[in-house]
Amino acid sequence: MKPFFLFLIYLLGGWAAMLPAAADVPVYVWQHWNDSISEESLERDFHILRTHQVKGVCFNAGFQMERIALAARVAKREGLEFHAWAPAMMQPDCDSTWYAVNRHGESAYRRPAYVPYYTTLDPHNPQVVHWLCEQYARVAAIPEVDYVQLDYIRYADVILAEGLWKKYGLVMHEEYPPADYCYCDDCVEDFRRQTGIDIRAVSDPSKVQEWAQFRCDNVTRCVNAICAAVHAQGKRVSADVFPGPKRHAERMVRQQWDRWHVDAYFPMNYNDFYLRPASWVGEVTREEVETVRARWGQPVYSGLFICRDWRNKANVVDPENSGLTPDELREAVEGALRAGARGLSLFSAESMTPEHWKALSETLERWHH
Ligand SMILES: [Zn+2]
Repeated sequence: MKPFFLFLIYLLGGWAAMLPAAADVPVYVWQHWNDSISEESLERDFHILRTHQVKGVCFNAGFQMERIALAARVAKREGLEFHAWAPAMMQPDCDSTWYAVNRHGESAYRRPAYVPYYTTLDPHNPQVVHWLCEQYARVAAIPEVDYVQLDYIRYADVILAEGLWKKYGLVMHEEYPPADYCYCDDCVEDFRRQTGIDIRAVSDPSKVQEWAQFRCDNVTRCVNAICAAVHAQGKRVSADVFPGPKRHAERMVRQQWDRWHVDAYFPMNYNDFYLRPASWVGEVTREEVETVRARWGQPVYSGLFICRDWRNKANVVDPENSGLTPDELREAVEGALRAGARGLSLFSAESMTPEHWKALSETLERWHH
């Protein structure tokens, strides 16, 4: 990078540091590894985040230890908290017997639901839990990692968010058998031992409350084992969860996440996925904050999905390319903070336009005064 440009960034950083403390509301961003990333590009990206008063980066390099170590080192140098974000259950190349089996008896390894990459592991399998504990513990052992961040820590969506129905040509008022897991011999047998119910003999398993609870408990047990492994390294755990937990997380992906021993929640309150307006972010954040408060009171960082091509939002039909415009971002941020969110998380760093950053900083300034 040219020295002059570096100097300019330095000045901007200094100026940003003198602004009144928008840092009272911690802001995080999610960012993915990609192959064009280098130490220099990370330095540039992370420095810009600091000028926008961002507190920390949630960085996804999976379980690629060298990439995590590089990003974490640069993040710490730039003064950012580092969350090593890594998907748990969605894995491409584990032992083929570790994958979940759907209600039709099909393995997610051979016939994943919805899309080819939905190859999801069985959280009831002790070998899966052990392997995940090992992976996250290795990540936690990297000195500059502050948190490991659990993502895809759930079953496949047995019901998709309503905004995705059209995309996949599905209407999902009820559970979708090809994405209903796990009916492997071990799960079926363990459930029968616990409850006396042979779930394969039940005509509509979605009506069996104990069966839903069994799956929620499998995820909770797996999460809490990972938390113990990470805490043993003196590090903390954050988790990317579905909104709720009652409203969506439990029903859609078996996340009873208020029972988890994690240290921070980053619920993905992506209103456009649920065909809801920005005002919904405040509503759902309130449920999350109140649920957590009744348990252990961990902080909730309301996760917001940003529309990069926001001027063209009216023409975007796929929620995965939609999200909040700058004006909607103002409303979502205010709603989340009023509902008691400790802070915010933005998906993603790359989607934030100058107009979004301006809307964010103005809203936070107003919040403080
Ligand atoms: Zn199973």
